[in-house]
Amino acid sequence: MPRKSTRTPAPQEPLKCYLCEHKLDELDHKDYYLLRRFVTLQGKIRPPRKTGTCTRHQRVVARAVKRARVMAVLPVKRV
Ligand SMILES: [Zn+2]
Repeated sequence: MPRKSTRTPAPQEPLKCYLCEHKLDELDHKDYYLLRRFVTLQGKIRPPRKTGTCTRHQRVVARAVKRARVMAVLPVKRV
């Protein structure tokens, strides 16, 4: 039976909302390099627990990513 690890995980800096930090209220759906930080390699929208985005801005991000998919700035699906 494997022993339970007693090692405590290294303390991590809490995630901060990128849009709050940079005082951005809107996200340009044509800004590929900014949108990429909120999207996985597969083209999925990254969850707020991974990016630190607050609820209000997560909605802004989701809207911008979905618009970018329609405009073919971001992939809808990448295998
Ligand atoms: Zn925010």
